[in-house]
Amino acid sequence: MTEYDYDLFTIGAGSGGVRATRMSAQFGARVAVAEEDRPGGTCVLRGCVPKKLLVYASAYPEEMADAPAYGWSAGEMTLDWPRLRDAVQAETERLSRIYRRNLGLAGAEIFDDRAILKDPHTVHLVKADRDVTARHILVAVGAWPFLPQGVPGIEHAISSNEIFHLETLPERAVIVGGGYIAVEFAGILNGLGVDVTLLYRGAEILRGFDLDLRALLVREMAAKGIKIQIETNVKAIEKTGRGLTVVLERNNEIETDLVLYATGRRPKTEGLGCEAAGVRLDRAGAIIVDAYSKSSVDSIHAIGDVTNRKNLTPVAIREGICLAETLFNNRPMAMDYADVPTAVFSQPPLGTVGLTEAEARAAGHDVDIYKTRFRTMKHSFAGRDEHMFFKLVVDARTDRVLGCHILGHEAGEMIQIAGIAVKMGATKAQFDATCAVHPTAAEELVTIREKYVPMEIEVERPPMPANPARSND
Ligand code: NDP
Repeated sequence: MTEYDYDLFTIGAGSGGVRATRMSAQFGARVAVAEEDRPGGTCVLRGCVPKKLLVYASAYPEEMADAPAYGWSAGEMTLDWPRLRDAVQAETERLSRIYRRNLGLAGAEIFDDRAILKDPHTVHLVKADRDVTARHILVAVGAWPFLPQGVPGIEHAISSNEIFHLETLPERAVIVGGGYIAVEFAGILNGLGVDVTLLYRGAEILRGFDLDLRALLVREMAAKGIKIQIETNVKAIEKTGRGLTVVLERNNEIETDLVLYATGRRPKTEGLGCEAAGVRLDRAGAIIVDAYSKSSVDSIHAIGDVTNRKNLTPVAIREGICLAETLFNNRPMAMDYADVPTAVFSQPPLGTVGLTEAEARAAGHDVDIYKTRFRTMKHSFAGRDEHMFFKLVVDARTDRVLGCHILGHEAGEMIQIAGIAVKMGATKAQFDATCAVHPTAAEELVTIREKYVPMEIEVERPPMPANPARSND
């Protein structure tokens, strides 16, 4: 008999927790996992997976609108939202079952229960009202949508958790926020036929992304009919006989049927027993960890969104792999956060890896910029005025490609491949030495030869609406 019930007890069966648990089991650890919801976590149940399916669904009207240019006569299309919604939920259910099965096959004991930390080696199972012990405890409980509580009427707003379960699709929607979720759902709802207004408190949506991508995405979103109001804050939300009124700080109002807040997510540490166990949190409530995902308590570790490092599913998974290697395979491994590719499934989507132009300059690089903007063959033939954009940020001294930024159809797929080259430290000369695949949009990545001349910036920058009067209506 060993001292503890398990070698590893994981709290939270999302992408990161499940990967860490399964890999630890492969290395011979006796593992268990507690999950208060279904297995799958944010990504499978209320994030990446259902979101991407809705992105696909929302793209059909444009495809059908362009079909006549390709010789097709398209009949009238109508959306059966309940059918789509239920099919998406059925898919998340299927994937959740696979998560559960894989955990079982790995030999993990699964507790359908809420678990909270009790001390460095003990968790308390709330429903079962019993304690279990483990040599190592892993906290992988993720994050939860944050809605600013100071806004009167905020209870009338929903978050990205509820959007997947709507009874009916609204005619009009107001989305608050300018991050991944706000931008993605603006595209989804607009594509599904909803009249969408996006309200962002800052000057340019998608803070942290390359400025060119941000500005050009706004232009494309506006062209698709999404109304974007920047530097706009919500004062109150009022319920009326006909829906909701969003009162803005400038005292103008927007009548709508639905208000979606996508104003960020907070680590889900409340009531988790961190204090009792001695686990230190930062001011945002995230568990503070070292490079090996160890918390302030030697036996308690944390990965994924609960640590608020880089809140992306593949990062949580890699953190889980690193942890299993470190704890149970005698191979201490720290996650490398450099050059993590990411995509925003906006419409059109964007993909990015490495440094933005601003980051590269701020880091002291002397940079050469290569960029190109054009209509793809597919859109040009259909008469659609949508543009694709590629940008390479290159270190002028070493010729290394520091960043790659793409806006346009399948940018997410492209950036995954480009990410390999950037991660490997490829130079611009090596990009150039790669033969193009023709005819594709991606071939521009290896055929841009002209250095960007900064004079053109002013001409290229699309106008941003600064207030409702100058919005994209
Ligand atoms: P983000 O942090 O990306 O964006 C939050 C947005 O809300 C920002 O525009 C922020 O403005 C704004 N905001 C924050 N607080 C307030 C407030 N009190 N009032 C008004 N606006 C506010 O969060 P999301 O919710 O969009 O997404 C959460 C995380 O989930 C992301 O960080 C991302 O890592 C992950 N995710 C990844 C996806 C992907 O990989 N494709 C898809 C969806 C989510 P400001 O910029 O001024 O701070």
